[in-house]
Amino acid sequence: MAEDPRDWEIETRAVRGGMARSPYGEISEALYLTQSFAYDSAEAADKRFSGEEPGFIYQRFGNPTTQMFEDRLALLEGAESCRATASGMAAVHVALTGLLRAGDHLVAGRALFGSCRWIVSELLPRFAVETTYVDATDLSAWKNAVRPNTKAFLIESPANPLLEVTAIGAVAEIAHAAGAKLVVDNVFATPIFQKPLALGADIVVYSATKHIDGQGRVLGGAILGAEPLMTETYKDILRHTGPALSPFNSWVLLKGLETLELRVRRQTDNAAKVADVIAAHSKTQQTVYCGRPDHPQAALIANQMTGGGNVIAFDLGSRAAAWRFLDALQIVDISNNLGDAKSMATHPCTTTHRSMPEAERLEIGLTEGWVRMSVGLEGAGDLSRDVSRALDAA
Ligand SMILES: *Cc1c(COP(=O)(O)O)cnc(C)c1O
Repeated sequence: MAEDPRDWEIETRAVRGGMARSPYGEISEALYLTQSFAYDSAEAADKRFSGEEPGFIYQRFGNPTTQMFEDRLALLEGAESCRATASGMAAVHVALTGLLRAGDHLVAGRALFGSCRWIVSELLPRFAVETTYVDATDLSAWKNAVRPNTKAFLIESPANPLLEVTAIGAVAEIAHAAGAKLVVDNVFATPIFQKPLALGADIVVYSATKHIDGQGRVLGGAILGAEPLMTETYKDILRHTGPALSPFNSWVLLKGLETLELRVRRQTDNAAKVADVIAAHSKTQQTVYCGRPDHPQAALIANQMTGGGNVIAFDLGSRAAAWRFLDALQIVDISNNLGDAKSMATHPCTTTHRSMPEAERLEIGLTEGWVRMSVGLEGAGDLSRDVSRALDAA
């Protein structure tokens, strides 16, 4: 019997999933840098366009390299379908606009990535979609926010930057009872540590820019879910609005998936060690890391995640102390990306979350002393020494 890739272990799916070899038998996946495709006859073109015969038509609709990336990520996620996008924000934008119409209502967790908040707060209202923000950890808040026209729920879990975790299964039940779809931004957990679809979510989105590339090169994103929801909701909007991922970036991300599991596990081992150094230091007022038993939602994390991930948040009490810490780092970069092989740290209040009004920042507990660190693949000893020295200087 032929092997079913869905039965493979995750390591095998990461390396071999979605592979579609050309007649040349290449080992490394081919990069099909082509916009269009030629047909054997006018009739063949007709059949391709009508959908009667499968095949590619135009890069905006699909591309063989991009499809390999989509198929491999779908296998890793355990999703029936995956559509790649040019960035994580394109994925979030399409995920929401595909589900929502004028007059509909969205409920969103209030701790969201800055650009996601802009889409929800500034863009959707232009098209008459209203949103209620809730404390995502409070299940009664989700229930109370539901209206007759609620069509979608949006959460990020763990959330940026303070790693607040939402009970995905319980929120999915509330969404479904209301006739709404649950969209989960799973960037921080990665497909290695959390499977929102298996927990009850309808749609998962990724910024592939983060751990999936993981080497600081390209932007990319993805939307995943079950058929027929994916086709009904996203096929036309993706074809006609043009957020297609370039085949070159697809190829980079496809190769990124081969080592995703290895990298994320090593980053997580490093993060656990660095989090211990941070938590033990006298300058640290609070440390939040999903892999620590003192995370405020450790029980929930044990239920729905299989690893703590590579992001740590910690409070040094003031902006001045946070900046002194950042400026004293010698190995770790000051940068706002995450999931990279290189460790980096940022001051959310003045970078990633600077456009968030202060009142809203305080609502999620984001005061001026917080630092967010993405732990990379350097030696844990070097990272611990660098962080410890910078904390001394804070
Ligand atoms: C980075 C990020 C995004 C946006 O992704 P881009 O690829 O930069 O467009 C969305 N959500 C989360 C949680 C992110 O970290």
